[in-house]
Amino acid sequence: MKLIVQKFGGTSVATPEGREKAIQRVLEAKAKGFAPVVVVSAMGRNGAPYATDTLINLVREIDRDVQARELDLLTACGEIISSVVMAQSIKAKGCPAIALTGGQAGIRTDANFGNAQILEINPNPITRLAKAGQIVVVAGFQGVTEDGGITTLGRGGSDTTATALGVALKAEEVEIYTDVDGVMTVDPRVVPEAQILDRITYREICEMAYQGAKVIHPRAVEIAMTEQVPIRIKNTFSDAEGTLIAQGAAERVITGLAHLTNLVQVGVALNNGKSSQANEVEVFKLLADNGISIDLISVLPKGIYFTVKEEAAEKATGILSEAGFEYTLQKDCGKLSVIGAGMTNVPGVMANLMGTLHRAGVEILQTSDSEITISFLVPMEQLNKAVQLLHNKFALGQS
Ligand code: ADP
Ligand code: MG
Repeated sequence: MKLIVQKFGGTSVATPEGREKAIQRVLEAKAKGFAPVVVVSAMGRNGAPYATDTLINLVREIDRDVQARELDLLTACGEIISSVVMAQSIKAKGCPAIALTGGQAGIRTDANFGNAQILEINPNPITRLAKAGQIVVVAGFQGVTEDGGITTLGRGGSDTTATALGVALKAEEVEIYTDVDGVMTVDPRVVPEAQILDRITYREICEMAYQGAKVIHPRAVEIAMTEQVPIRIKNTFSDAEGTLIAQGAAERVITGLAHLTNLVQVGVALNNGKSSQANEVEVFKLLADNGISIDLISVLPKGIYFTVKEEAAEKATGILSEAGFEYTLQKDCGKLSVIGAGMTNVPGVMANLMGTLHRAGVEILQTSDSEITISFLVPMEQLNKAVQLLHNKFALGQS
């Protein structure tokens, strides 16, 4: 039996037309001899009756303070509803199908409600049903704790369900269906000339996703990478080949761009009498103890620079001033990242990028680089222009 996991995101299952297309993809896979295991997200975005945010508002209207376990119990329903609707629609086409919750599908997680980690997947419930000729439709984004608590997996959770099932079931491939033709060189909403990539390595797409490309969740990629299960990103609504995510050698210097918005740069002065090392440790410890995640960290003799998400800025600065630190703030920043496994051994890439941005008058507030990524922090009003510029410069728009 050749298993294939097919995940359909909110963009695909939101409308009857989308669901119809999705079912077509499932039946095509079956006709090719695969046993499809379908993973679905909730139907639609905020405002739609069964969308995750709509469900959350249902209880937040009563009281904003909702227990995490209760919130999980509620939001998990969005995907469960979607799974039953899909299974019923497949059955209506004359094909046996069955809907399962994450727990029924054998997905066991820790008890970290709202952002649970998958601990183990028992493949037997799905393989048994698939062997009996059923198309199994699994509610994405969720699992169950050892003592039966329903958990959710956090942002991008259905992507994670799909690749984790792919690994556990030893699937031939995991297909992630969405509303674009594959992974593109840049977010098509910012640069319309964005090109579809035929192939991309796990590391590159993982990095692109961490740096803001929304097309797949980075955690899902990491899970697939452990067992080298190939992932294909495809469009529910078109017959394009899509993008294959797999192991491989770097094929180009720069693969793609990604960006993040609404960041605040914080600069902490280190001149309050203590040794600067003691200060540095204290700053990082304070932020970590309060669960504030920071990025783009630079430690310099005169101070520490880092970025936080806009919504965390007030909490972060409150903590710092309470501890007696002076700080400066640069609000409304965006981060542009250039990703490519081929950059490693090519000299001059940084100079080239910097030069291009400088000549166009883009103000660079901070930079960072790792093996396959170079990032620039820029004022948000210059972000889209900077993304456009680098995309043109590196001819990413020409296939
Ligand atoms: P789904 O509901 O199917 O999970 P998402 O909205 O999570 O869909 O992800 C798909 C969207 O990701 C696309 O519509 C696209 O605008 C956006 N996106 C951002 N960066 C990229 C990129 N580099 N390649 C493809 N899509 C991207
Ligand atoms: Mg998504």
